[in-house]
Amino acid sequence: MDHPESIITQLIHEEHKSKWIARRNHNVKCFTEDEIKRFTDNYKTLLGRGAFGEVYQGVLEDKRMVAVKKYICNVKENFAKELTVHREINHKNVVRLVGYCVDENALMVVMEYIPKGNLSDILHRDSIPIALDTRLRIAIECAEALGYMHSQMYTQVIHGDIKPANILLDDGLSAKISDFGISRLVNTKSSNILLTGTHDACVSEHGLMTLGVFSNASGYRAPEVTDNRSVSQKADVYSFGILMLEVLTRKDPAKSTQNEEGLDLARWVCSITPEEWRAEVFDVELLARGQKDGKEECMVRLMQLGLKCCSQDADSRPTMSDVVQRIEEIGQS
Ligand code: ATP
Repeated sequence: MDHPESIITQLIHEEHKSKWIARRNHNVKCFTEDEIKRFTDNYKTLLGRGAFGEVYQGVLEDKRMVAVKKYICNVKENFAKELTVHREINHKNVVRLVGYCVDENALMVVMEYIPKGNLSDILHRDSIPIALDTRLRIAIECAEALGYMHSQMYTQVIHGDIKPANILLDDGLSAKISDFGISRLVNTKSSNILLTGTHDACVSEHGLMTLGVFSNASGYRAPEVTDNRSVSQKADVYSFGILMLEVLTRKDPAKSTQNEEGLDLARWVCSITPEEWRAEVFDVELLARGQKDGKEECMVRLMQLGLKCCSQDADSRPTMSDVVQRIEEIGQS
């Protein structure tokens, strides 16, 4: 018997079908390891390595390009939790989940292929010029996707690892948030939560969590995460604020000439007065163009917004929806 979804598709007239291709994540496909070996040409092209595995390029039968994340460690539960969170999310600025594989000793997720690599490499390795408008758009796209995860889904999501290495860019340099390895689903109303970490969480009456493993990269980690206090979506707002400062300064928090632990970007920007930001803080290329185009004030306001997101007190940080609105206003000014 035909699957109900294919019956529905058959009801649409052939010539209109292409306009009705659903982009839902709920119809993710389960692949066998043999199928994955076939469409990755036996894991021929390595795209990158992360903490939990390796990512390979593949081409599906319908010619769609995909990226396959192959878990190298024995992380069955983490894998299941990552998959559970990722398949709930359907947003144009989140990498789309295509399928997965759960064969014996072969845990894999199959995602859409995002061709231009990650934002960290583009900012710090490739040193190509990036216009203010492009940086602004990337920030808005990330903020929109986070706003959706934080407040528009039935079951809200904390990503938990927002950093430029987890922002992939497509051909038009549109942002796609990836890597749900330590993300969490939070149902604050019923205090019913699903976690993707390896430790248990404590849920307070306000739906906040304390999470021992909420361990995103140190330069992006909110103070409440470091101190093992209650964590909410505002931890993502903090990480996003650091990302904004990084996009405006092109300084990498993971690297510092003075400090082996890396650069506390928010503290460094705060230690310099806004009047001096022009000379000492902004990315030189961005500043030169900004001065030419009369956009310096806009850059200063964006930096101030980034710093607001990095407030030590989580309650003082804006919500991601506020951030989207503010960036759009600043962009139009
Ligand atoms: P970690 O998991 O330690 O935070 P990471 O985020 O870099 O590290 P992965 O998500 O495993 O780790 O990705 C590793 C690299 O593989 C990425 O930096 C990116 O260059 C590449 N990659 C991941 N997903 C895709 C994708 N969907 N399309 C294209 N390249 C991808």
